[in-house]
Amino acid sequence: MSLTAVGSIAFDSVRTPFGARDRMLGGSAVHFSLAASFFTDVRLVGPVGDDFGEEELAVLRARGVITDDIEHVEGGKTFFWRGHYEYDMNLAHTDETQLNVFGDFQPKLSDGSRGAEMLFLGNIQPQLQLEVREACGGAELAGLDSMNLWIETERDDLLKAIGKADYLLLNDAEIRMLTDETNLARAAHQVMEMGPRVVVAKRGEYGAALFTEDHPFAIPGYLLEDVRDPTGAGDSFAGGFLGYLDGQRAAGLSPFDFDSLRQAMAYGSVLASFNVEDFGTERVASLTMDEIAERLKHFRHITRFEA
Ligand code: AMP
Repeated sequence: MSLTAVGSIAFDSVRTPFGARDRMLGGSAVHFSLAASFFTDVRLVGPVGDDFGEEELAVLRARGVITDDIEHVEGGKTFFWRGHYEYDMNLAHTDETQLNVFGDFQPKLSDGSRGAEMLFLGNIQPQLQLEVREACGGAELAGLDSMNLWIETERDDLLKAIGKADYLLLNDAEIRMLTDETNLARAAHQVMEMGPRVVVAKRGEYGAALFTEDHPFAIPGYLLEDVRDPTGAGDSFAGGFLGYLDGQRAAGLSPFDFDSLRQAMAYGSVLASFNVEDFGTERVASLTMDEIAERLKHFRHITRFEA
């Protein structure tokens, strides 16, 4: 079982009402990979610059993430994002985005990454998501995430990339923006007509909704007293969700089976809840499977109980 993830590998400078951090390890693919690493073998693909070193790689390797396809661009600078949150931490305010080495990145994938059965096309330029989807033609399944920036600026390429995805994970506001439809259920069904069989609408602290051909399903967020930094929550959710489904697929079970999807939603919610407890990758980097199982118990009234 293996999963190849592409998306931003970043340094993030973040301010929330509960503190601030400068240039911490982040990026959509990093948050995703750390979360998915609890369920499957993850290969992370993407470029970094001279400012990315052993310390950052060590965080990924400690969770078993395979870093062979992280390409060091000599003389380049790693993707950089600066943002802040007000008291409503469901909304990220972007203050600065520097694509840097992602500006002209051409993915060169190893045989290992090409051979993965599951693909995660994390938030990054849609053109790049398409190239990676093509390079990994053998992958049985692909999940895709994106954001308002690409919906506004690269809509055509994004629609092509969405057309090649089996699972689409977006914020509820982004799904509405993509379809120009205010009702979430209708919007999700419009998205399914674009290609994906499964649509997940992430709703910040309120949890997430799942749409398939026949059943809608919603899961609450795990209610925490301390939320310090929501950055990466959506990607951690995606990592728990797709990582778990890849494990199911490898065990010979259908990754579209409704029970598996519900359980994947619960793992997504749990991983996201750990992510927001501390800044950046700090909490998930020290997380254990026992802690995940303990928190999963809180969802036993709505999911299959495995812990
Ligand atoms: P989220 O899960 O939505 O909170 O994603 C947060 C991550 O997205 C941060 O770690 C950022 O580095 C990354 N990010 C922010 N803006 C972009 C962008 N335009 N393209 C790719 N990644 C981004």
